[in-house]
Amino acid sequence: MAHRPILRYPAPELRQRCELVLGGSELLSTLIQDLLEMMDALPGCVGLAAPQVGALLRVVVVDASRYRKKVENQGRMVLINPVQQNASGQKVFREGCLSLPDLTGNVPRATSVEYLALDERLESRPIRASGFEAVVLQHEIDHLDGVLFIDRVVCAKTDLFRRQNYL
Ligand SMILES: [Zn+2]
Repeated sequence: MAHRPILRYPAPELRQRCELVLGGSELLSTLIQDLLEMMDALPGCVGLAAPQVGALLRVVVVDASRYRKKVENQGRMVLINPVQQNASGQKVFREGCLSLPDLTGNVPRATSVEYLALDERLESRPIRASGFEAVVLQHEIDHLDGVLFIDRVVCAKTDLFRRQNYL
């Protein structure tokens, strides 16, 4: 596997707005393959965004089936140029991020989301998700605009927590 290091906060790449993917290329296929392989290789990893490996393109991969708890999910998904169509409900979830390995946070998120995105074959498809999978999608897609979960907590003093031990 082509291992790429995962950038950690405050790497400047994590704060950039990523570029739209304008068409297929070998670079894009390799990036998607690497993100999927890295997600599979990292224990408990349920999603990765391209900027986390320094690629400033609008690409995320998610797989909520890898979560340690059993949750409703659609398995592995690749989303390119995702655009939110709808979001409803609100719930606070405890989140973490490989780019901020020593923190977790209580983050308010929509409980149901709808996106339009291209899949890995660059075919347009609607994605509907709810619950944990919806949260993963929101978290990963936030990365494409340089937004991290620490930006979404209501109060940094009461909603951010230091991890006692982490991978
Ligand atoms: Zn993240």
